[in-house]
Amino acid sequence: MSFYVTTPIYYVNAAPHLGHAYTTIAADVMARHHRQRGEDVFFLTGTDEHGEPVADAAHALGIDPQELADENAERFKALAPLLAATNDFFIRTTDPQHMLRVQEVLTRVRENGFVYEGTYEGWYCPRCADFKAENEIDEGRRCPIHHIELTREREENYFFRLSSFQEPLERLYAEREDFVAPRTRYNEALSFIRSGLRDVPLTRHKLTWGVPVPWDSEHVFYVWFDALLNYYSALTYARDEDLRGRFWPASYHLIAKDILRFHAVYWPALLMAAEIELPEHVFVHGYLLMEGEKMSKSLGNVLDPFAVIERFGADALRFYLLREVPFGQDGSVSTSSFEMRYESELANELGNLASRTIAMLGRYRAGALPAGELDPVLAGDFAGLPERVAAHLDRAELTLALDEIWQRVRRLNRYVEEQSPWQLAKDPARREDLDRVLRTLAEGLRAVTVLLWPYLPESAERLLAALGASELSLAGARFGAGRIAEVSPIEPLFPKGS
Ligand SMILES: [Zn+2]
Repeated sequence: MSFYVTTPIYYVNAAPHLGHAYTTIAADVMARHHRQRGEDVFFLTGTDEHGEPVADAAHALGIDPQELADENAERFKALAPLLAATNDFFIRTTDPQHMLRVQEVLTRVRENGFVYEGTYEGWYCPRCADFKAENEIDEGRRCPIHHIELTREREENYFFRLSSFQEPLERLYAEREDFVAPRTRYNEALSFIRSGLRDVPLTRHKLTWGVPVPWDSEHVFYVWFDALLNYYSALTYARDEDLRGRFWPASYHLIAKDILRFHAVYWPALLMAAEIELPEHVFVHGYLLMEGEKMSKSLGNVLDPFAVIERFGADALRFYLLREVPFGQDGSVSTSSFEMRYESELANELGNLASRTIAMLGRYRAGALPAGELDPVLAGDFAGLPERVAAHLDRAELTLALDEIWQRVRRLNRYVEEQSPWQLAKDPARREDLDRVLRTLAEGLRAVTVLLWPYLPESAERLLAALGASELSLAGARFGAGRIAEVSPIEPLFPKGS
């Protein structure tokens, strides 16, 4: 089994922000989870570096576009390890190997008869690097996304025959209802296809900052086609071997909704035109809406990923974003709700469960795990848990999977209250009961921690080390599969007032 997950490649003109962090974190959770299943995993992220906006920004600074791209790409490259993201490769569309592959694939598209020469005139947004159809132009001839005035562009271009793929795309959507998820995004893409596809420019004439068109030196490829092909080209040079046989087609492209049309319409059409197999899933997450007025004492009013990580660590940010906003929907985030979740869930629920379980084992049993049975009541509550988590993650339902796990964290806390081990410890006649409770708690804690590892990798590894059970496989997440012998003391996982 192999699993290949991608983030969009991030446009180097912007500075890394919470939205980039969000997609990268989500892709990392999926990559880590599939590694836990023993699958062959490839996780790709990177930067999109060509196109007019980069050329314009470099021009304004009086530097070469390559110099600007080099500088800005570094900031995105640095973001991944800060988030504890385990990408296998970082692609840059200025990599010569990528550019060669773009030329090769698009030459094949032309040889297959899907490219022709023509004149294009239309309303163009330089920030989108895209022409706008009449029905997607805001009042005052403005871009609905960037709210800047569109420019009238007319140029001799090569065109991609997107219109030839109307029927094949409709068939794809009929045959594979999970090609695009969530369902609202599937419907949105399908209705765009049904509204009638027109051919789109494949090249730009006036620009030089892009991948040169091999059959006409006066053109470069339109930045979107160059960018989309990263998902495919990366596999040909990320390592010494050609990885396409192992990882293509991609399992999941994670994207935000603003680039839905490119991934759900242009991309499959382009791949069909080049006779390349289509990816399995495009999953579209929502927007994180910042509520500036809800302010926390330690973070001010802007949820800046770098500030959160510096103060609370990457795990806290990963957890918060996937817990607070159902993955796939828009939702509000704020520094005050971040602090609330940090304290009430990470510190009070998971953090306390870990410290008191380990402390009680230390106090009552000198750190050694007592022999004996697990409590059958808890075994029932944990039955089938790894399978349920995996089923959610197979559909990129990251928030639902996390909620399944978190319900067990809460169950374990209730179990402590129900059993009152501190009372049992006072009565020598109840020694076996205390053994069973301590053993059950330690095993439950271990099982949820293995499942939490994709979300909270650093804390989970510390906690599993303290439990003397570092096994991370999904099979090992089954309640009762653990081999804890002895536990060692641990510092608070999520210190308060940090
Ligand atoms: Zn725009």
